[in-house]
Amino acid sequence: MDEIRIKRLEVFAHHGVFPEENQLGQKFLVSAVLYTDLRRAGLTDELSHSMDYGAVCAEIHRYLTEHTFRLLETAAERLCAHLLRTLPQLARIRLEIEKPWAPIGLPLETASVCITRGWHTAYVALGSNLGDKTAYLDGAVQALRADADMRVQTVSDYLLTAPYGGVPQDDFLNAVLCVRTLLPPHELLARLHAIEQAAGRERLVHWGPRTLDLDILFYDDAVIADDDLHVPHPEIPKRAFVLRPLAQIAPYLVHPVYRRTITELLEALEQ
Ligand code: ADP
Ligand code: MG
Repeated sequence: MDEIRIKRLEVFAHHGVFPEENQLGQKFLVSAVLYTDLRRAGLTDELSHSMDYGAVCAEIHRYLTEHTFRLLETAAERLCAHLLRTLPQLARIRLEIEKPWAPIGLPLETASVCITRGWHTAYVALGSNLGDKTAYLDGAVQALRADADMRVQTVSDYLLTAPYGGVPQDDFLNAVLCVRTLLPPHELLARLHAIEQAAGRERLVHWGPRTLDLDILFYDDAVIADDDLHVPHPEIPKRAFVLRPLAQIAPYLVHPVYRRTITELLEALEQ
């Protein structure tokens, strides 16, 4: 991806773990690589098609002078989130904050923190088979839309399906959605669990009735298998109630492990 680079913007601010630092302030140097598509701006010569780095510098300066953090880590983390949430063209950012006057009692040129953050694409499955199922799915979509770390892109139709897993229970209402998120996979899972909890979800019977179930199907092309999280969700190829709505919103999405499109996985299952 194309880059706009900002090198060592000087900001006089008050971050630090020592009270003296918070009172007196000191110099910080901010460098950023803004990852964005510059093709259109390059062809049109129009600033509105690019990111105005003057405005970005002003925003970095404003943010770091209006807030005070103890840690450079926190300053960098919050500043990245702020820029990614507010600049629509910014896909990813690499941010370094240097502290040339770091009070460590030894001569040094600078100490710095450097992080890379960005938007990721996740697919989430929604299911409900207790109470007002449509309202539970609507509520989950709304909760995601209201979250500053999420941008819901597409939501499939809601699909009524017979229960799965051998537990006798009411029909399920299922859907999938595509969301852009700033959260890493485990934080996304925790955020989904919080939405389930708010919908009154209790984990009683495995595969049993539930007001709301939110599962991560895909997270970029990530392959994750640890105690808390399996991505891609291992049941995808076996579940028509996931593949059908997925085929509606992402028919050509390629499963990063099986290397087959959603349409191909659905055809294989239906045979
Ligand atoms: P299920 O979704 O299988 O019916 P639960 O919703 O109760 O059951 O999930 C049980 C656990 O599965 C969660 O606490 C979570 O840690 C784990 N899990 C593993 N992979 C995923 C995933 N991709 N999405 C959601 N939960 C997952
Ligand atoms: Mg679940």
